[in-house]
Amino acid sequence: MVVRPVVRQYKEAYAREAARHVRAGGHAVVWEKGGKVRLVIPVPKADDPMDLHYWSLLDLGKSRWKKMPSGPYRGLAIAMIPRDCHDIVRRRAERDAVWPEAQRAITFDCLACGACCRDNYVELDKDDIARFRKAGRADLLRRPYTRKKDGKLVLRLLKSKRCRHLEDDNRCAIYELRPSACSVFPVGSECCLNAREVEFEMYDGDPPAR
Ligand code: SF4
Ligand code: SF4
Repeated sequence: MVVRPVVRQYKEAYAREAARHVRAGGHAVVWEKGGKVRLVIPVPKADDPMDLHYWSLLDLGKSRWKKMPSGPYRGLAIAMIPRDCHDIVRRRAERDAVWPEAQRAITFDCLACGACCRDNYVELDKDDIARFRKAGRADLLRRPYTRKKDGKLVLRLLKSKRCRHLEDDNRCAIYELRPSACSVFPVGSECCLNAREVEFEMYDGDPPAR
């Protein structure tokens, strides 16, 4: 089970309500005059790769935030949302409008899903390369399993966009050796929810329709 933040949207004038929601563990999308949008979240734990607050930023292509020193958001983290991501944060709030609390407990079945192992981009880091070699699987570093992209070694996908290591039952064929990027991908994050929606139209915690 995962406890994930519930996303609400607020007008700028309701900063206190937005801050109260975030202090209770939720995320606030704050619409300001002039069309600017801020995402207000609890301060991410940058050293915790499973931190759902941090991943809510990564899903927007952002990795930086500002901890507010004063004002209604004192002690909370704020990130300005790029214009091309406004619809994304609006949809998050619309998705969560049915949940009355600031957080929501939810259970996912990864073996019934596998969405994040499709149409993805997985770079292999130094640790992955060393791990593959140590396990006698240097073949995993070559074609057909990898390709070079901007000097990085990246997992190659099948034409169907599935990862080559994803088996028919959604198990990972190299689970014990799987790349670090796969092992730290957090279930219940906005990236997970987005993958489920894009790949299978599974909305939030829906079971797969297949
Ligand atoms: S998208 Fe989420 S629920 Fe689906 S397999 Fe990946 S981590 Fe699990
Ligand atoms: S290596 Fe395994 S965990 Fe990573 S994307 Fe492929 S199937 Fe999924």
